[in-house]
Amino acid sequence: MIQIYGAGISGTFLYNYLIKKGYSANIFDFRKSPDCRCGWGIAYREAKELYSLIELNLDEFILVKPEKVVINGIELKNKGIATFDKLRLLSELWKGIEFKEKKADLIVDATGAERAFLPKIKDDRLLPTMQFEERHEKEENIYIYFKRYGYAWAFPLGDCWHIGAGSIEESEIPFLIKKLREKFGFEEKKNICSCKARIRMLPPSKCKPFVHCNVVGVGESIGCVSGAGEGNTPALKCSKILLECIEKLENYEKMVLKEFKWIEMEQKFVESVFKRFPAFHLLFKIIPYERKRLVCHSILDFLRIFYEKV
Ligand SMILES: Cc1cc2nc3c(=O)[nH]c(=O)nc-3n(C[C@H](O)[C@H](O)[C@H](O)COP(=O)(O)OP(=O)(O)OC[C@H]3O[C@@H](n4cnc5c(N)ncnc54)[C@H](O)[C@@H]3O)c2cc1C
Repeated sequence: MIQIYGAGISGTFLYNYLIKKGYSANIFDFRKSPDCRCGWGIAYREAKELYSLIELNLDEFILVKPEKVVINGIELKNKGIATFDKLRLLSELWKGIEFKEKKADLIVDATGAERAFLPKIKDDRLLPTMQFEERHEKEENIYIYFKRYGYAWAFPLGDCWHIGAGSIEESEIPFLIKKLREKFGFEEKKNICSCKARIRMLPPSKCKPFVHCNVVGVGESIGCVSGAGEGNTPALKCSKILLECIEKLENYEKMVLKEFKWIEMEQKFVESVFKRFPAFHLLFKIIPYERKRLVCHSILDFLRIFYEKV
């Protein structure tokens, strides 16, 4: 018997996949409705393929496939980022689940930034964020306002937009959002909803142990979030790896670390930027990978973004 705690992206995927493969599993979340605090961006192709494993058609939840990602003043072609209705997708998955807590041989910690069941991480790094949902009439691109200590974003959702920011300096979040509004013309409006949340800014290698006694972590609880804050597709991938290792947990750590080498690199780069000594040499590995999956950009584009006075 497997007991999953946390019915976010990783927990719901893992639960459905385990059931499909004939395992006995239960899932429990302490919320009454899904936690949708997220920009709702997703690496479309990878997520579509992964969700097909549990017979979920991601296309039914896709909101916008933006043409461009505009960072500070620089326009880049969007290769693979879509926005999806995360609340509706999770609500749909929740409909098919009866939450239960039962004695189990294995407990899965899928509680995201909370990491409620695995041992706490010494020097954990949880980046504060703030986000609003608002109505705007604008060309449906992804807009980013980037500074050394964080960034603000605008993600198109069809009728509405997610406008938010995350920063290592929490007090700078309103400033980042203000600058994004000025730069891209998102005037301040009455919001439809607002939220605050934290993102784990540590790579998997710094979130050990992944397995402790009869508890195993998955998704953001073990650092499967990129330096840019991308955690949805990594949470799905990590759940798939866990299922593949469920009978041989001794292989799990190695497989997660191998899959998410790119997250290690991105987080290392971001940390060097936070510390004001950007490790630019890492871009030679990071950018080709990002070009393949997400956004068509080059090292030169990155340097222009980095050094542009905004
Ligand atoms: C503001 C913001 C914007 C983001 N934007 C993006 C984006 O655009 N694209 C992207 O890819 N990623 C984004 N992310 C990151 C992404 O949302 C997460 O990395 C991803 O949701 C992690 O999935 P998860 O299943 O591991 O954890 P979560 O989605 O956090 O799910 C954890 C679940 O555990 C439950 N829980 C917590 N504690 C307990 C407990 N003790 N018992 C039971 N249940 C518990 C919670 O209620 C929740 O349902 C964003 C994050 C934030 C905060």
